[in-house]
Amino acid sequence: MEMTEDLIRNVIQQVLSQMGTGGSATNGSSARPSGKDGVYPTADAAVLAAEAAFKHYRKRPLACRRKAVECIRSICVEQAEELGRMELDETKIGRLDHKIAKLRDAIPLVPGVEYLRTDNWSGDDGITLTDYSPFGVIGAITPVTHSLPTLAGNAINMLAAGNTVVVNAHPSGARVAAEGVRRFNRAIRQAIGIDDLITIIETPTLESAAALFDHRGVKLLVVTGGPAVARAALASKRRAVVAGPGNPPVVVDPTADIENAARSIIAGAAFDNNLLCIGEKQVFAVSDIFDKLMEAVGRLGGFRLSASQIDALTKKAFVQGDDKQYHVNKDLVGNDAAVLARHAGSEAPKGTEIVFGETGADHLFVEHEQMMPFIPFVRVPDVDRAIDLAYSSEHGYGHTAILHSRDTSVMSRMGKRMDCTVFVINGPSTAGLGLGGEGVLSFSIAGPTGEGVTTPLTFCRQRRTAVVGSMRFV
Ligand code: NAD
Repeated sequence: MEMTEDLIRNVIQQVLSQMGTGGSATNGSSARPSGKDGVYPTADAAVLAAEAAFKHYRKRPLACRRKAVECIRSICVEQAEELGRMELDETKIGRLDHKIAKLRDAIPLVPGVEYLRTDNWSGDDGITLTDYSPFGVIGAITPVTHSLPTLAGNAINMLAAGNTVVVNAHPSGARVAAEGVRRFNRAIRQAIGIDDLITIIETPTLESAAALFDHRGVKLLVVTGGPAVARAALASKRRAVVAGPGNPPVVVDPTADIENAARSIIAGAAFDNNLLCIGEKQVFAVSDIFDKLMEAVGRLGGFRLSASQIDALTKKAFVQGDDKQYHVNKDLVGNDAAVLARHAGSEAPKGTEIVFGETGADHLFVEHEQMMPFIPFVRVPDVDRAIDLAYSSEHGYGHTAILHSRDTSVMSRMGKRMDCTVFVINGPSTAGLGLGGEGVLSFSIAGPTGEGVTTPLTFCRQRRTAVVGSMRFV
């Protein structure tokens, strides 16, 4: 039998665990802070463990990175049902079928080591190579809307790039996040003999997030969440990749394929009960086709609410804060369409994917990122007015916009005006992340800091090596 480095490491690991040390063959020094399978009580302990792991990981070949990534991918796919159910049971928002799909179908689209293609210039003066090197320990803040999928997607990108990662999950999705970290770490230890490539703070709080923001061991922050945490990350002294909120508008013009527009709006807005940051949140449709679109949405899975029913739902869906401003009622976020219909005083038929109805452009459901499957449709006189209103409703986040049109000049006008990280034309929003469209997927879309749909390259330092006067072979 060939005694590979990995095999030797695995044997030592087994001996150590039989001796009851529970330590790792590579980073199991007695100074290691106490944690189990990557789960640590404090930010400091989690960072120290990830730092120790990085020291070993950085010496390993790319083949080890591939194996680590494969461990995460295969656990997500093979255990999607169990983990998806766990996430729904804990967070109580969204839909089981889509929680499972996010792990089983979306995670395999997250790119790994294969994405790190080097660049070079070869010429009379030699060769210059641009290569991609890890930062070290990355601190990741993840949202409740996709707790484990964001963690898994971030970890694949970051480990592929050679980093290790410390996660501060949302408190309402922390148990499933920690369970994922345990499973990933056990599998990675088995595969390559290193512990703690991913660590997590067991009971995350705003204080533990702040401790991660300020920790000297953290070289880069990656923050995925709403306005408050995005602002905090942008104000941090540490370099941060910020994947902030959106409020994606849809424009439908008279040239659109109305059946496709209706089907796409329903598919995107219904996905996980509209928890996706890229999910369709409000529609501006030109009056010529407005009624036809409403009829199609009603026929293809939408349940239409009357004006008084929308009023009743709005009173439940928004609460006035001490600041006198209206805020989304968290109790309704991610609820099923049938539950929203009941709040509206109605009963939706079985199989309803979204509830919807006509509102004005200044309605609370248009203004706010509601993250629930009620979609307001606004009737507008022409497409330019639709684009203007779409622009205002997006609040300058520059996150995602969707257009249904066959007119290429409208495509250009709206693309330029919205200036969004993701612009989807003639499909559901999810196509912008490679689900039914082309391209790779990430659960962290970094608009404010400009990295876009994050990939392993987002988590690399570019390094250049110039060999002067040789290494040109032609
Ligand atoms: P959230 O902002 O409530 O929480 C996100 C994370 O930030 C959590 O881990 C939370 O504990 C932490 N947090 C919140 N305030 C903080 C502060 N002041 N300091 C430090 N940490 C803080 O968001 P959520 O409800 O979990 O997720 C939904 C939001 O995230 C939506 O606005 C959605 O658009 C956005 N989101 C964006 C992307 C993207 O790729 N751009 C992806 C998913 C979700």
